[in-house]
Amino acid sequence: MVCEKIIIIGAGLGGLSAAIRLAKSGFDVTVLEKNETVGGKVNFVEADGYKFDTGASLLTMRHVFEELFTFAEKRLDDYLDLTALDPICRYFWTDGITLDASQDVQKTENEIRKFAPQDVENFRNYLSDSENKYAIAEKTFLARSLNDLPHLLRPKYLKDLLAISSLKTLDAHNKNYFQSPKLQQLFNRFATYNGSSPYQTPATFALVPFVEFGLGAWYVRGGIYEIPKALAKLAREFDVKIRTNCAVEKIIIENKKAVGVKRTARFIKVILSFQTPMRLKLTAIFCRPKIKNFKTANRRAAVLFSCLEHARNFRSSRITTSFFRRLSRRI
Ligand SMILES: Cc1cc2nc3c(=O)[nH]c(=O)nc-3n(C[C@H](O)[C@H](O)[C@H](O)COP(=O)(O)OP(=O)(O)OC[C@H]3O[C@@H](n4cnc5c(N)ncnc54)[C@H](O)[C@@H]3O)c2cc1C
Repeated sequence: MVCEKIIIIGAGLGGLSAAIRLAKSGFDVTVLEKNETVGGKVNFVEADGYKFDTGASLLTMRHVFEELFTFAEKRLDDYLDLTALDPICRYFWTDGITLDASQDVQKTENEIRKFAPQDVENFRNYLSDSENKYAIAEKTFLARSLNDLPHLLRPKYLKDLLAISSLKTLDAHNKNYFQSPKLQQLFNRFATYNGSSPYQTPATFALVPFVEFGLGAWYVRGGIYEIPKALAKLAREFDVKIRTNCAVEKIIIENKKAVGVKRTARFIKVILSFQTPMRLKLTAIFCRPKIKNFKTANRRAAVLFSCLEHARNFRSSRITTSFFRRLSRRI
């Protein structure tokens, strides 16, 4: 059994998945996450009883998660409640036309036939080209790290890379296939998968539609944030230590080897809110990200805290924010 220590920076889906695989392989893994919560881009905000995803909102490429859970000798279904979506998405246009996209090609073709019958055949060809691009990409850059450039540049892969690389933009590619501006627009939206513009991103991105139309999409019951929660749970089952509110400032390198990390001095934030007799709402924020010494920082925060408590007891109406600014500078 290996027992080396590993530190992973970031508890996004990438960090958590790596942590699970490494811990399952016998490493002693710690994940350091600067945010309060795990999940990285896959997160949510809550307002008025509603929950909004900040990142992805539907799950594609389920097989990638299956592989991870199988590696961990667990069942994905025991951790996540996934429902296959049909339709996957409903597209609306201002003239009242809608299109329900389905993994069932026949159903999608029927939807297209309603407003662009001339493009039904084109859709079939487009999807076939997308599948072909996906198959090539899967064995080259999806399966291997792009950092492994020497490997990817071997003649065997170079041919594949050239086959999916395109000098054409995604928009030009879609215009070549579809006559309907609505369908050109619909398939342009796949550039947004990584926040790109279809007018600038290469037609390589035409592989993405196959991910939805060909491989399908799932709804995660409870919202997409259930995914990082499930991964964190699985990681902890393998004794991974996940430290949130823990930003890494520097990776320490010795003899060209990473030997440790330097954590950023703790961000001390004291927020108090109370009302004076004049109903003056005061919020004092004491925020010193540059404080090096934790003990000093904590002492300063404690002093500020007790001053605020003291002031509250006296119910002084002369308390002002600038007073607290001066106070926090002095302590
Ligand atoms: C709107 C939107 C929609 C998306 N839709 C999809 C989709 O449908 N399908 C799909 O597959 N993908 C989608 N994505 C992309 C997907 O969410 C990301 O690719 C994925 O979550 C990235 O995971 P990651 O772990 O690589 O990075 P991140 O999620 O960015 O995680 C990195 C983590 O590292 C932490 N970190 C960074 N620096 C430090 C530091 N110095 N110290 C400590 N911690 C640090 C960050 O706080 C963060 O938690 C979408 C993204 C967005 C924004």
